[in-house]
Amino acid sequence: MPRDHLWPAHPHPFPDELLSSWIMRVAQANAIKLQTLSWQLFGNERSPWNRDIDRSAPPWLLRALCAHTGCNYWDVFHTTLVTYRGRLYPRRQTSGRLSWILPIKGHGMRRNAFGLQFCPACLADDPIPYFRKTWRLALYTYCPEHQCALYDECPACHSPVTPHRGDFGRELTDARPMHACATCGTDLREVPCHPETFPTESLRAFSGAMLRSIMTASNPADRFDLGFFRVLHHLCGMICSKSNNGLLLQHLATTLGHTEVPLLPEGRIGIEDLRRDTRHLVLMCGLWLVEDLEQRLTEAWKVKAIRYNLMLKAFARPPRWYGDIVQSLSNWRSIRR
Ligand SMILES: [Zn+2]
Ligand SMILES: [Zn+2]
Repeated sequence: MPRDHLWPAHPHPFPDELLSSWIMRVAQANAIKLQTLSWQLFGNERSPWNRDIDRSAPPWLLRALCAHTGCNYWDVFHTTLVTYRGRLYPRRQTSGRLSWILPIKGHGMRRNAFGLQFCPACLADDPIPYFRKTWRLALYTYCPEHQCALYDECPACHSPVTPHRGDFGRELTDARPMHACATCGTDLREVPCHPETFPTESLRAFSGAMLRSIMTASNPADRFDLGFFRVLHHLCGMICSKSNNGLLLQHLATTLGHTEVPLLPEGRIGIEDLRRDTRHLVLMCGLWLVEDLEQRLTEAWKVKAIRYNLMLKAFARPPRWYGDIVQSLSNWRSIRR
């Protein structure tokens, strides 16, 4: 196949489709191996799949894909996680932790490659199964459409979800389709859906509204703006932190009716490093705080589950609605003294 020509089949990205998922479908539709297609795009034997192309796809790669598929540049650009800049995180960053984006590689010494999640019901409903951008977000722990928990691993063999490996070491005729576990072949469309549970009905509604807002174009009047996500991220970071002996998680989880508080992994971790179940709990705790911030933050502070000096750390200029509440605790602290 000539390197600069239109490939015979050129499927367009589906709504909310992830770049890597679309590239796999393009290879499949053209009946070529992903490796062959990657070679044509990258021009050498270096595998693009060793890096996170969804997070930092170079513009030349997007342009090459457009040239081969006849797709519009911006349609392809919208399949990358870069589109969450300004919405979920402030600046582009090619390395290190990026707020709310699940890493597909290990963090520090820990192996954590459980960065791609899936909803079995979405895959089963798709005429052509594909992977969503939102499944790479730490904010998404369940499917707002099917109300079931997402999986961050194959439930049969517990391997990370790596659909791009479906034809590695196999002939095209034996390649595993995208909706099958690349390691054991389990059909991910047929694994059971577990309905998600919420501490309260109002948290279910709050969380659902937040997830739906990410799926739609940003609106300046939206409550769920960058400031909201920065505060929620900071609160979740404090909940995951071991610096206060995990007291905040303990306080919030018990308040929300959990009798067993999960153990947090060792090291400096963020919400992106947590596996799905613990991440869901931490998110619920964070959202519960935001739901009635003044009262619940003050309560947590009074029982010494949260330290005042950590509340504004990481903010050069916190959103006013958050900064004012933290400030009021500072006044209260001086009065009490
Ligand atoms: Zn779903
Ligand atoms: Zn498997």
